[in-house]
Amino acid sequence: MSRRSAILAEMGIAPVWRLRQRRSPQLQLAAASGTAAAPAAVPEGPEDAAGSRQQRIARMDWTELKAAVKGCTACRLRAGCKQTVFGVGDEKARWLFVGEAPGSEEDRLGEPFVGQAGKLLDSMLAAIGLTRGKGVFIANVLRCRPPNNRDPQADEIEKCAPFLRRTVALIRPRLIVAMGRPASQTLLNTDASIGSLRGRVFRYAGVPLVVTYHPAYLLRNLPDKAKSWQDLLFAKRTMAGL
Ligand code: URA
Repeated sequence: MSRRSAILAEMGIAPVWRLRQRRSPQLQLAAASGTAAAPAAVPEGPEDAAGSRQQRIARMDWTELKAAVKGCTACRLRAGCKQTVFGVGDEKARWLFVGEAPGSEEDRLGEPFVGQAGKLLDSMLAAIGLTRGKGVFIANVLRCRPPNNRDPQADEIEKCAPFLRRTVALIRPRLIVAMGRPASQTLLNTDASIGSLRGRVFRYAGVPLVVTYHPAYLLRNLPDKAKSWQDLLFAKRTMAGL
Protein backbone atom coordinates (compact mmCIF):
# COMPACT_ATOMS: atom_id res chain seq x y z
CA MET A 1 0.00 0.00 0.00
CA SER A 2 1.38 3.45 -0.91
CA ARG A 3 1.94 6.00 1.85
CA ARG A 4 -0.95 8.07 0.49
CA SER A 5 -3.29 5.06 0.44
CA ALA A 6 -2.21 4.20 3.98
CA ILE A 7 -3.00 7.72 5.17
CA LEU A 8 -6.39 7.68 3.46
CA ALA A 9 -7.15 4.25 4.87
CA GLU A 10 -6.32 5.59 8.33
CA MET A 11 -8.77 8.41 7.72
CA GLY A 12 -11.29 5.76 6.81
CA ILE A 13 -11.44 6.90 3.20
CA ALA A 14 -11.02 4.10 0.73
CA PRO A 15 -11.41 3.99 -2.17
CA VAL A 16 -10.63 7.63 -2.92
CA TRP A 17 -13.62 9.65 -4.12
CA ARG A 18 -12.95 12.30 -6.73
CA LEU A 19 -15.12 15.37 -7.24
CA ARG A 20 -16.94 15.08 -10.56
CA GLN A 21 -17.16 18.81 -11.00
CA ARG A 22 -14.46 21.35 -10.24
CA ARG A 23 -15.99 24.53 -8.93
CA SER A 24 -13.86 27.64 -9.23
CA PRO A 25 -12.69 28.75 -5.79
CA GLN A 26 -12.05 32.19 -7.29
CA LEU A 27 -15.70 32.54 -8.23
CA GLN A 28 -16.76 31.32 -4.81
CA LEU A 29 -14.44 33.82 -3.20
CA ALA A 30 -15.79 36.66 -5.30
CA ALA A 31 -19.35 35.66 -4.43
CA ALA A 32 -18.56 35.27 -0.76
CA SER A 33 -16.91 38.66 -0.47
CA GLY A 34 -20.10 40.29 -1.78
CA THR A 35 -22.76 41.44 0.62
CA ALA A 36 -25.78 39.18 0.45
CA ALA A 37 -24.72 35.55 0.63
CA ALA A 38 -21.70 35.60 2.91
CA PRO A 39 -22.18 35.62 6.68
CA ALA A 40 -20.44 38.55 8.36
CA ALA A 41 -17.43 38.17 10.61
CA VAL A 42 -17.81 38.33 14.41
CA PRO A 43 -19.02 41.83 15.36
CA GLU A 44 -16.72 43.91 17.53
CA GLY A 45 -19.31 45.14 20.06
CA PRO A 46 -19.80 48.56 21.66
CA GLU A 47 -17.05 50.92 22.83
CA ASP A 48 -17.39 50.02 26.50
CA ALA A 49 -15.12 48.13 28.88
CA ALA A 50 -15.36 45.05 26.67
CA GLY A 51 -14.52 47.24 23.67
CA SER A 52 -11.36 48.54 25.30
CA ARG A 53 -10.33 44.99 26.23
CA GLN A 54 -10.78 44.04 22.60
CA GLN A 55 -8.77 47.05 21.53
CA ARG A 56 -5.94 46.21 23.92
CA ILE A 57 -5.81 42.63 22.68
CA ALA A 58 -5.91 43.87 19.09
CA ARG A 59 -2.59 45.70 19.65
CA MET A 60 -0.70 42.85 21.36
CA ASP A 61 2.41 41.15 20.01
CA TRP A 62 2.94 37.38 20.33
CA THR A 63 4.53 37.57 23.77
CA GLU A 64 1.82 39.85 25.15
CA LEU A 65 -0.93 37.78 23.59
CA LYS A 66 0.38 34.52 25.05
CA ALA A 67 0.71 36.14 28.48
CA ALA A 68 -2.79 37.60 28.23
CA VAL A 69 -4.26 34.19 27.38
CA LYS A 70 -2.34 32.54 30.20
CA GLY A 71 -3.60 35.09 32.71
CA CYS A 72 -7.16 35.34 31.39
CA THR A 73 -10.01 34.96 33.88
CA ALA A 74 -12.60 36.76 31.76
CA CYS A 75 -15.06 33.87 31.94
CA ARG A 76 -15.90 30.99 34.29
CA LEU A 77 -13.93 28.36 32.37
CA ARG A 78 -10.46 29.17 33.70
CA ALA A 79 -11.52 28.20 37.22
CA GLY A 80 -12.35 24.67 36.06
CA CYS A 81 -9.46 23.81 33.76
CA LYS A 82 -5.82 22.89 34.42
CA GLN A 83 -4.30 25.35 31.97
CA THR A 84 -5.04 27.51 28.97
CA VAL A 85 -4.37 26.07 25.51
CA PHE A 86 -3.10 28.87 23.30
CA GLY A 87 -2.66 27.13 19.97
CA VAL A 88 0.32 25.52 18.33
CA GLY A 89 2.34 25.75 15.19
CA ASP A 90 4.16 27.93 12.77
CA GLU A 91 3.66 31.61 13.61
CA LYS A 92 3.99 32.42 9.90
CA ALA A 93 1.68 29.59 8.85
CA ARG A 94 -0.13 29.65 5.50
CA TRP A 95 -2.80 27.34 6.94
CA LEU A 96 -4.81 27.97 10.11
CA PHE A 97 -7.06 25.16 11.36
CA VAL A 98 -9.59 26.19 14.00
CA GLY A 99 -11.46 23.76 16.25
CA GLU A 100 -13.83 24.18 19.15
CA ALA A 101 -12.19 23.93 22.57
CA PRO A 102 -9.59 21.88 24.43
CA GLY A 103 -10.67 18.44 25.69
CA SER A 104 -9.17 16.55 28.60
CA GLU A 105 -5.91 15.56 26.88
CA GLU A 106 -5.42 19.08 25.52
CA ASP A 107 -6.09 20.49 29.01
CA ARG A 108 -3.51 18.08 30.46
CA LEU A 109 -0.81 18.76 27.84
CA GLY A 110 -1.52 22.40 26.95
CA GLU A 111 -1.65 21.72 23.20
CA PRO A 112 -4.68 21.59 20.88
CA PHE A 113 -5.77 18.37 19.19
CA VAL A 114 -3.54 15.87 20.95
CA GLY A 115 -6.27 13.29 21.78
CA GLN A 116 -8.12 10.92 19.43
CA ALA A 117 -9.55 13.79 17.37
CA GLY A 118 -6.03 15.17 17.10
CA LYS A 119 -4.72 11.90 15.66
CA LEU A 120 -7.40 12.07 13.00
CA LEU A 121 -6.59 15.74 12.34
CA ASP A 122 -2.92 14.82 11.83
CA SER A 123 -4.02 12.16 9.31
CA MET A 124 -6.25 14.69 7.56
CA LEU A 125 -3.33 17.11 7.34
CA ALA A 126 -1.04 14.38 6.02
CA ALA A 127 -3.64 13.46 3.40
CA ILE A 128 -3.19 16.89 1.80
CA GLY A 129 0.56 16.98 2.31
CA LEU A 130 0.59 19.05 5.52
CA THR A 131 2.31 18.51 8.85
CA ARG A 132 1.42 20.01 12.22
CA GLY A 133 3.79 22.90 12.88
CA LYS A 134 5.15 23.21 9.34
CA GLY A 135 3.27 26.01 7.62
CA VAL A 136 0.30 25.05 9.78
CA PHE A 137 -1.11 26.62 12.95
CA ILE A 138 -3.84 24.91 14.99
CA ALA A 139 -6.08 26.84 17.38
CA ASN A 140 -9.51 26.67 18.97
CA VAL A 141 -12.40 29.05 19.44
CA LEU A 142 -11.90 28.63 23.21
CA ARG A 143 -8.61 28.49 25.08
CA CYS A 144 -9.99 26.78 28.19
CA ARG A 145 -11.64 23.38 28.49
CA PRO A 146 -15.39 23.54 29.16
CA PRO A 147 -16.42 21.20 32.00
CA ASN A 148 -17.26 17.67 30.82
CA ASN A 149 -16.56 18.83 27.25
CA ARG A 150 -19.92 20.59 27.10
CA ASP A 151 -20.62 22.99 24.22
CA PRO A 152 -19.07 26.46 24.51
CA GLN A 153 -21.53 29.08 25.75
CA ALA A 154 -22.12 32.36 23.93
CA ASP A 155 -20.49 34.57 26.60
CA GLU A 156 -17.41 32.29 26.72
CA ILE A 157 -17.04 32.52 22.96
CA GLU A 158 -17.45 36.29 23.08
CA LYS A 159 -14.76 36.69 25.76
CA CYS A 160 -12.31 34.45 23.90
CA ALA A 161 -12.98 35.80 20.39
CA PRO A 162 -10.49 38.70 20.57
CA PHE A 163 -7.67 36.20 21.21
CA LEU A 164 -8.43 34.27 18.04
CA ARG A 165 -8.88 37.48 16.07
CA ARG A 166 -5.46 38.71 17.21
CA THR A 167 -3.89 35.32 16.51
CA VAL A 168 -5.20 35.55 12.95
CA ALA A 169 -3.90 39.11 12.58
CA LEU A 170 -0.42 38.11 13.80
CA ILE A 171 -0.15 34.96 11.68
CA ARG A 172 -1.84 36.41 8.60
CA PRO A 173 -2.56 32.91 7.19
CA ARG A 174 -3.50 32.50 3.55
CA LEU A 175 -6.44 30.23 4.41
CA ILE A 176 -8.46 29.32 7.49
CA VAL A 177 -10.14 25.92 7.80
CA ALA A 178 -12.96 26.08 10.36
CA MET A 179 -13.64 22.60 11.73
CA GLY A 180 -17.10 21.85 13.05
CA ARG A 181 -20.19 23.82 13.94
CA PRO A 182 -18.95 26.02 16.82
CA ALA A 183 -15.85 27.16 14.91
CA SER A 184 -17.72 27.73 11.65
CA GLN A 185 -20.71 29.47 13.20
CA THR A 186 -18.52 31.61 15.45
CA LEU A 187 -16.06 32.71 12.78
CA LEU A 188 -18.82 33.41 10.27
CA ASN A 189 -21.34 34.79 12.77
CA THR A 190 -24.08 32.58 11.42
CA ASP A 191 -26.50 29.85 12.50
CA ALA A 192 -26.16 28.05 9.18
CA SER A 193 -25.41 24.32 9.18
CA ILE A 194 -22.03 22.90 8.22
CA GLY A 195 -23.74 21.18 5.30
CA SER A 196 -24.84 24.51 3.85
CA LEU A 197 -21.45 26.17 4.40
CA ARG A 198 -19.25 23.44 2.89
CA GLY A 199 -17.71 23.96 -0.53
CA ARG A 200 -17.77 27.76 -0.40
CA VAL A 201 -15.09 30.32 0.40
CA PHE A 202 -15.92 32.95 3.03
CA ARG A 203 -13.77 35.50 4.79
CA TYR A 204 -12.87 36.02 8.41
CA ALA A 205 -10.98 39.23 9.22
CA GLY A 206 -10.13 39.47 5.53
CA VAL A 207 -8.72 35.94 5.34
CA PRO A 208 -10.37 33.34 3.05
CA LEU A 209 -12.08 30.65 5.09
CA VAL A 210 -13.51 27.24 4.27
CA VAL A 211 -15.57 24.95 6.45
CA THR A 212 -15.43 21.25 7.20
CA TYR A 213 -16.56 18.75 9.80
CA HIS A 214 -14.84 18.49 13.17
CA PRO A 215 -12.50 15.46 13.52
CA ALA A 216 -14.29 14.38 16.72
CA TYR A 217 -17.59 14.34 14.81
CA LEU A 218 -15.95 12.29 12.05
CA LEU A 219 -14.84 9.70 14.59
CA ARG A 220 -18.54 9.14 15.39
CA ASN A 221 -19.93 9.57 11.86
CA LEU A 222 -17.81 7.52 9.52
CA PRO A 223 -19.83 8.17 6.33
CA ASP A 224 -19.06 11.90 6.57
CA LYS A 225 -15.33 11.21 6.32
CA ALA A 226 -15.76 11.07 2.55
CA LYS A 227 -17.28 14.55 2.65
CA SER A 228 -14.42 15.80 4.79
CA TRP A 229 -12.02 14.45 2.18
CA GLN A 230 -13.87 16.49 -0.45
CA ASP A 231 -13.57 19.52 1.82
CA LEU A 232 -9.83 19.02 2.20
CA LEU A 233 -9.41 18.79 -1.57
CA PHE A 234 -11.50 21.95 -1.93
CA ALA A 235 -9.32 23.68 0.69
CA LYS A 236 -6.19 22.62 -1.16
CA ARG A 237 -7.54 23.89 -4.48
CA THR A 238 -8.62 27.11 -2.84
CA MET A 239 -5.14 27.62 -1.41
CA ALA A 240 -3.58 26.89 -4.80
CA GLY A 241 -5.84 29.48 -6.42
CA LEU A 242 -5.13 32.28 -3.94
N1 URA B 1 -11.40 19.27 19.90
C1 URA B 1 -11.18 20.57 19.61
O1 URA B 1 -12.03 21.24 19.07
N2 URA B 1 -10.04 21.10 19.95
C2 URA B 1 -9.08 20.42 20.53
O2 URA B 1 -8.03 21.00 20.79
C3 URA B 1 -9.30 19.07 20.80
C4 URA B 1 -10.47 18.50 20.48
